[in-house]
Amino acid sequence: MNIILFGPPGAGKGTQAQFIVKKYNYFQLSTGNILREEVKLKTALGVEIEKLISNGKFVSDETVNILLKQSITNLKFRDRIIFDGYPRNIKQANNLESILAEFDQTIGHIIFLNVSKDIIEKRIMGRMTCDKCNMTLNEFFNKEEIELHPCGKEFLKRRKDDNFDVVVARYETYMETTKPILDFYSKNANFTEIDGASQIEQINNKINDVLNVKGVDFRTSSYIKG
Ligand code: AMP
Repeated sequence: MNIILFGPPGAGKGTQAQFIVKKYNYFQLSTGNILREEVKLKTALGVEIEKLISNGKFVSDETVNILLKQSITNLKFRDRIIFDGYPRNIKQANNLESILAEFDQTIGHIIFLNVSKDIIEKRIMGRMTCDKCNMTLNEFFNKEEIELHPCGKEFLKRRKDDNFDVVVARYETYMETTKPILDFYSKNANFTEIDGASQIEQINNKINDVLNVKGVDFRTSSYIKG
C-alpha cells in the first residue's frame, strides 16, 4: 500500500521518507526532487520549472501529473510509493485518487507532520541537500554528519528556493492551497497526525508505530532503488 507524507515545506517529509525507504524498501516519490532533476537537465521545460520554483510558485498540475503518472504506472514501484510533496492542492488530490484507482492501487496511510511556521523557517534556512543522494542535513544541527557525509561534503548544497523570501512565499502557498486538503484527508480512517516539531528519531518511531500497528507486513518487499 502507498503512503502519503503530508505537511508544510520543511516539515521533515523528505527526511522521514528516506527512513521509510531504508526500513521498508519503499520508493520515495518527491515531486520536488523530480522537478529539480528536470531543472538540472536544462531542458526548455526545466528552465520554466526553475523560474517557478525559485519564486516559491507551484509548477503546473499538468506537468507534475505527467511526471507522477510515470512512477505510479511503473510496476517496480507498485503499491510501494511514499508520496512526498504530492498532492499539493485539491485537484492533485483528486487526480491521485483516480490514477491509483485506475491502476488498482490504494493509499494505506496518510501521515501529517504538523509544524509551526517559526520552526520551519529555522529548519529551511539551514538545510543542505546532497546533489548525489538527496540526503538532507542542517548546517546548524548536523555539523558532524556534514563533515562525514559519504558522498563528500562538497555535494551538499543549499537549495536556491531555501532563502527567506521564498520560504515565506512557499509557506503562504501551503496555507492557502495545500492545507485545505487536510479536510479532505483527515476524515480518512488511515489519517494520522504527528507532531513534526519533535526530534527526528521520535517522529520516526511514531511513524514506525503507525506503519506496524496497522498490521502491514513490509518484510517480504524487494529492494527498490529510488
Ligand atoms: P519541495 O521539494 O517539495 O519543497 O518542492 C519544491 C518546489 O517544487 C515547490 O515549491 C514547487 O515549486 C515545486 N513542486 C513540488 N511539488 C509540487 C507539486 N505537487 N505541484 C506543484 N509544484 C510542486
